[in-house]
Amino acid sequence: MGRVTLAASWVVPVDRPPIRDGRVVVEGDRVTWVGPAGDPAAPGGPVRDLGSGVLLPSLVNAHTHLELSHLRGLAPLGRGFVPWVEGVVAARTSGDEEEAAARTAEAIELLEKRGTAAVGDVSNRLAHLDVLMDSRLRAVVFLEVLAWDPARAAETERWVDERIAAARRHDRVEVRLGAHAPHSVSPELLRRLAERGGIGALHLAESPEESRFLEHGDGAWAKFLARRGLGAVPFAAPGTSPVRYADDLGLLHPALVAAHGVQVDAADREILARRGVSVVLCPRSNRNLGVGRADVPALLAAGVRLCLGSDSLAGVDTLDVLDDAALLARQFTDLDPAALVRMATAGGAEALGFEDLGTLEPGKTAALAFAAAETPPEDPYTHLLSGAASLQTVEVG
Ligand SMILES: [Zn+2]
Repeated sequence: MGRVTLAASWVVPVDRPPIRDGRVVVEGDRVTWVGPAGDPAAPGGPVRDLGSGVLLPSLVNAHTHLELSHLRGLAPLGRGFVPWVEGVVAARTSGDEEEAAARTAEAIELLEKRGTAAVGDVSNRLAHLDVLMDSRLRAVVFLEVLAWDPARAAETERWVDERIAAARRHDRVEVRLGAHAPHSVSPELLRRLAERGGIGALHLAESPEESRFLEHGDGAWAKFLARRGLGAVPFAAPGTSPVRYADDLGLLHPALVAAHGVQVDAADREILARRGVSVVLCPRSNRNLGVGRADVPALLAAGVRLCLGSDSLAGVDTLDVLDDAALLARQFTDLDPAALVRMATAGGAEALGFEDLGTLEPGKTAALAFAAAETPPEDPYTHLLSGAASLQTVEVG
């Protein structure tokens, strides 16, 4: 197994402070040493100088929908949550399967090249599973149920079990059960899924429309359901917040990756922290859809586990979560930049269970990304979060 030392003007290991003029030693597919240039403890061998820029662990995008990659520009942005959902539903219904497959394959290839190692991918169809399995990405694919009519609960449960059982086994891609959201899946079905071990992914507390519907049973989401022919489905609004409702249904647990967390109050934050839920912040998606902004400092202060997700190309321009970290750095100028980079890497790895990713330390998988800079950056975080940094995957082995 060959050994190579990667050199860069900065190494950001994530589990400890940045190292100026840093070195990362890789043997085979593993990191074996991390430290500064000139450290007498450094193993010898050939050095590959990446030059001016920042070397860091590859990103983990904890919430995306790869199968929606062909919907770029097809759903209206900035007009609120429901018009966007309706746009997505219409575009998916009339969409071209071949086009969808080609754009999804393209998105996967870009992620591989641009410094992302792993994704938490939400899917209703699993049509792109083979492409994902043929790529170098690691993935948890959440097969997502969507069924508002309680009469369909048993049938939907059977459908999802069959699909998961039929999915090809793969060492880098795992299929888990997910559910869309508390306002689109019947409480009957959510309760059944919770009782049998729970779901791995859920959209939670994203839009004001969701909160309104769970509080009072009316508003734009109720009208949308009626337009979908679901107006007569009985639903007793729980009269509470999305987080408290999900908790009452038994859905909140440490393996849950809950996307958004925008519409939460102090009591919700305390519940999310206590249950150990990983909340995936999707700031670009939230901004583009106009649903509001997650209170990231308050979530951090409450001890909620945080990571980042791009959501789909139907709502954002790229699937690179460094772009989400950069937006948060602009929105919350007092946030610790190290915490933001951690969310984009180790936070996602922990949320999805990829224990060998997310930091640069001996024993971890050598999944590395490099953000080149014209001249050695004064501060690695300023460069990474500038909004102008672009990552390249560092090929090793
Ligand atoms: Zn989503």
